[in-house]
Order: sequence, then structure tokens, then C-alpha cells
Amino acid sequence: MDKFELQKLRDLPIEGVAERLGLTVKHHKALCPFHADSHPSLSFKVSKNTFRCFVCGASGGTIDLVMRHLHLDFKEACRWLADEHNIIIVESSKLKVESCLPDKPFDAQRYERFFERPWLNEEARRFLFDERHLDERVVRWCRLTSWKDKQGVPWLQIPYYDCEGKLVGVQNRNLVKGAIPRFRFPQGSQCGIYNLPILNLLKPGDALWITEGCSDCWAMLSAGHKAIAIPSATLLTKKDIEQLSIINSQLSIVNCQLSISYHMFPDRDEPGERLFLQLKKVLPSLVHHQLPPDCKDFSDYYLTSLH
Ligand SMILES: [Zn+2]
Repeated sequence: MDKFELQKLRDLPIEGVAERLGLTVKHHKALCPFHADSHPSLSFKVSKNTFRCFVCGASGGTIDLVMRHLHLDFKEACRWLADEHNIIIVESSKLKVESCLPDKPFDAQRYERFFERPWLNEEARRFLFDERHLDERVVRWCRLTSWKDKQGVPWLQIPYYDCEGKLVGVQNRNLVKGAIPRFRFPQGSQCGIYNLPILNLLKPGDALWITEGCSDCWAMLSAGHKAIAIPSATLLTKKDIEQLSIINSQLSIVNCQLSISYHMFPDRDEPGERLFLQLKKVLPSLVHHQLPPDCKDFSDYYLTSLH
């Protein structure tokens, strides 16, 4: 990991990180997870992106918070943060060799063949169909495939395509529950907006749903909607925003005939709402839909709606 990547992790909004860790943040305060706290004594300094507990003295930045809360070492905490926010970090051993090269491009040819004949192993089938009840047609449309690494770890392989159907990146998701790292990206992967080929299928009057992460996107597609996904609520990059505004302007050119509307079920947490507001700036007509109180994201909602 280089300095720049590390800084990205340090710059993640600390309150968002705290929420990802399961803390409830209100008025820049939370119950301190490091001592038996009954009155919120952990406070966040947004300007400095730090936390401090006035009772037990715990303090630090985003990485410290993850290290202490999840009992991880520095490197593991960095990986966890990167995974949670879909930040691509390169392991330091590799970096030494590759950092001499200017941004190595994604080797699409090398990966394309994996998605020509997708194959789902037992773990992938369990994850996609038994746990998430996704529609087989959606899994096929998304060309999800799976593989096992040398250590026998099963991975779900998720291809990212641009609007023209060109492979631009690959995201690997660890199928072992709770395993770290949860995600892995081949060198140069451009995993920005997910499921762009769906834009070619938009028909007049269609609703286009914006989801957070590919899992919610699969659920949305399985529910019969057209959807794209942005990678992460806590870290919407400039590039994602640019891509969205390009999509929006391209769709508006033909919008007289198409009149596409944008919709979203923000996650029921602060990062979710923040994301909605950020997106609304790029897509002014974005419509806010409220998830029921017992559903934290659309995947949850989708599953409850099946019963
Ligand atoms: Zn404390």
C-alpha cells in the first residue's frame, strides 16, 4: 500500500466508518465500544476526522477505530476499510514491482474468457440462490462466475462492463463468510458504476434504479427493475459522479422520447441518506423511496417481500 492509498483510508469520513462498524452516531457522538458506556462519551471531530472517548481515553483516526473495534492489526484494518468502501489497495509486496510502471492498465483479454462460460460452484450457488434468492436470469445477465484460489478459497467473480459491453474491471468477492479480504480487484480494474449495459435496454418511460453495490443491484434486477449500482455510499468518487452526469446527459438527449426517471431506496443509515443527497445534485429528478423500518437495504427488503 502506498502513502496515497493510505491517505484515502484515513480520509474516509470517521462517522461513516463508525456506522459501518455498527455504532450509532448522533450529534457527533456514540456509545464508546471500548468501555462499558451507557451515555455516549465517544465524540467525533469531523474537522480532524478523529474520535476520542472522554471516559476511557481511546482516541485516533479511522484506522485506529477499526483496529481497536475489530481487534485487527494495522494491515488487516486497512484491508477491512478498503473492502467496506470498495477502495482498491495493492498489497505492498506487489506494489514495489508495479509502482515503477505508470498505472498499469486492466488486462481485459486475460479475464474476458472467464465470463464467456460462467460456472457457479457450490458456494456461489448457495450465496446467490439459497441466501439471496436471485433470479437465475439476472445471474446469467450479469455473467457471474466463480473460482477457487490456490488455498481453496471460493470467490465469486463479478465482471464490470462499460455501455458498449467492453470488460473494464473485475471484482472478486470472498464467499467465505466474514473472511478478510472480502473483495479483491485485479490490477487496473475500473469498478465504477455497475451494470452499465442495462442502459441500452431502457425503453420510453422506464424507471432506472440506482443502488449501492452490486448485491443490491442484483436484488433490484431480480425484482424486475432496471438498475445500475454505484460502488460505495461512503466514498462516491469524482469519477463516479462524472460517469453519472455523462449518463444523465446522454439519456437527456434522447429524453424527449425516452423520459427516463431515476429512483432510489437509500440505505436506512446516515451514509445512505448522504449518498442520496450527493446523487440528487447530479440527477436532480432522483426520487427518494423509503425502505420499511426493519430493512437496512434493498436486498433485505427484496428477501422479506418474497415471503
Ligand atoms: Zn470509552
